[in-house]
Amino acid sequence: MRLDTKAMRYLSAEDWRTLTAVETGSRNHEVVPTPLIAQISGLRGGVHKNISALAKIGLIARLKNAKYDGYRLTYGGLDYLSLNTYRKRKDVYSVGNQIGVGKESDIFVVADEKGVQRVLKIHRLGRISFRTVKANRDYLRHRPAGSWMYMSRLAALKEFTFMKALRENGFPVPEPLAQSRHTIVMSLIDAFPMRQVASVPDPAGLYAELISMILRLAQYGLIHGDFNEFNILIKEEYNSEDPKDQQPENVILTPILIDFPQMVSVDHANAEYYFDRDVNCIKRFFQRRFQFTSDEKGPSFAEARKLIGKGGNPRLDVAVAASGFSKKMAKDLESYMKEVGVDGDGDPDAARGDEDEDEDEEDDEDEDGEDKVDVEEEADGDDMQAHNQISAAEISLS
Ligand code: ADP
Ligand code: MG
Repeated sequence: MRLDTKAMRYLSAEDWRTLTAVETGSRNHEVVPTPLIAQISGLRGGVHKNISALAKIGLIARLKNAKYDGYRLTYGGLDYLSLNTYRKRKDVYSVGNQIGVGKESDIFVVADEKGVQRVLKIHRLGRISFRTVKANRDYLRHRPAGSWMYMSRLAALKEFTFMKALRENGFPVPEPLAQSRHTIVMSLIDAFPMRQVASVPDPAGLYAELISMILRLAQYGLIHGDFNEFNILIKEEYNSEDPKDQQPENVILTPILIDFPQMVSVDHANAEYYFDRDVNCIKRFFQRRFQFTSDEKGPSFAEARKLIGKGGNPRLDVAVAASGFSKKMAKDLESYMKEVGVDGDGDPDAARGDEDEDEDEEDDEDEDGEDKVDVEEEADGDDMQAHNQISAAEISLS
């Protein structure tokens, strides 16, 4: 989905207040009645003008056939609210290129005030429903108000909480910098997904490092659940600054792990299944891409279980529940992901973001044509443009 930030600079304080009122009202209304928007906003002069301004740029959408006149927040509106929070907290100053389109997220390069590049990941759960089976559609239709919003928030919160816990315990993951609503901001890793790596000098070494990462996660009570060539970025570094020494045989490859919304505890009912799948994804990829097969079998989940808590390491599955991502949240998110068929990049049966068969969410609702949201899928899939530079098209938020 496009992230058009142009209008951010032109919204008035009252427009923002009205938008926030629609968000607040969405907590218990699927369609927020217009009088309620006015009431929550506390704007004495009325909100009519502000509502039309917001609807015109697609931040809220009017529902025509509802029993009453009202508006709902769109993904665009939620994007704006979270960007506004980042702008105020000085986490994000400008938005640049989109570098990834996942099946349930959009990834952008952004920058802070000093021009330091960062990554903004926007979770878009619910989008998947419109490209999978009809059953999902019916299911989602009858879900409680704002569930796409709630689920996308949960995914962002989960990802942020896990990334933080992993980072604090020395795992090679991006630095989590900020979180708001359905989005997170993290450090930019100057690297490509392993999927785009054609060859490596020492496949056995890299393989061993990845397997030991899987085992180290288990030691801390965790299974990544989507450990594959899309979610491992390979950093290429040299020991020496001298270009003469920077030969292919001297390159040092460091794998960085990303994408955490589907992480599970080693105590999960299907832990063994997820663990084996993670291991097998790596085995399969190394065989196909690098013609490398390890002499060693496994590791098996039984072996991994023996490592849990070894060396006095904390159980991060327990720690995250205590630090903001509760067991109930985990359960809600998991059952939603399961029911809409979100089950990892590595699963060939899962719907992927690189299929161009999407229907727009907005086409599916009874809305005013005029207030239609400009949604456009830029489905370029997993081999996204390989650049981490903010382009000339960079847009500052203030
Ligand atoms: P999804 O849940 O949609 O799979 P990911 O978190 O895996 O989203 O990100 C999708 C792609 O975006 C990655 O494959 C990677 O190319 C890029 N990406 C994500 N996070 C970063 C980051 N911190 N630094 C650099 N690239 C990133
Ligand atoms: Mg991914």
